[in-house]
Amino acid sequence: MQTTLMIYDGTASADSDVPRTGGVPLAPAGFTWPMCGCFCGGPLQFFAHLPVEDGVLSVFLCQNDPGACEFWDESSGANRVYLFPREGLQPVAVPETGVTLLPTTSAIRTQVVTVDPEDDDHDDDDELVPDAYDLARSGWKREPEERFGKQREVLGSLGGSPSYLEDDRLPACPSCAGTMEFAAHLEEGISWQTAMNLGGQLGYVFVCRACREGAFLTD
Ligand SMILES: [Zn+2]
Ligand SMILES: [Zn+2]
Repeated sequence: MQTTLMIYDGTASADSDVPRTGGVPLAPAGFTWPMCGCFCGGPLQFFAHLPVEDGVLSVFLCQNDPGACEFWDESSGANRVYLFPREGLQPVAVPETGVTLLPTTSAIRTQVVTVDPEDDDHDDDDELVPDAYDLARSGWKREPEERFGKQREVLGSLGGSPSYLEDDRLPACPSCAGTMEFAAHLEEGISWQTAMNLGGQLGYVFVCRACREGAFLTD
């Protein structure tokens, strides 16, 4: 099983066009900062800039009132995912109030990891079926040059299938009503300075490429 892990790669400049969490969003001209449609009505916090094959995924979550605004629910209005075209992106003006930016900008490098589930000690038939992302993430500590226990360096993954997510939680596209395609996992971050608050959960990014719609939820 192959998984494209996203690995923490130090800091990045806030408006760079590299894969990153934090910093300032890059968007087409005329884009305005998304506001929370759940309870608070404030600006969402920018989480991640993820270049993908047909554009850039841009992920926002409400952090103005964690616990009140349901950022974990794709239909709450407390999160937004955009699939922007690749060209013509520019930094977006940041609202002056509200929780809008992460404290630091973290660069992401991708690494394809191949994990053979038969190498794992899953000889107990009662165990859950091995999950590609789970195996790759926990396997990260076994990379030859890495020391033990570096899972916090894993900031998520691109493509593949959603880790341990029930089928009935797969979001429908708000435009065409089709089931959206899984695009990425997002972890909170490597440290408290860099972290997005996901309530300790794993984040899932979905996309409808035809409609250029996106969705976010946590497990
Ligand atoms: Zn809110
Ligand atoms: Zn659609």
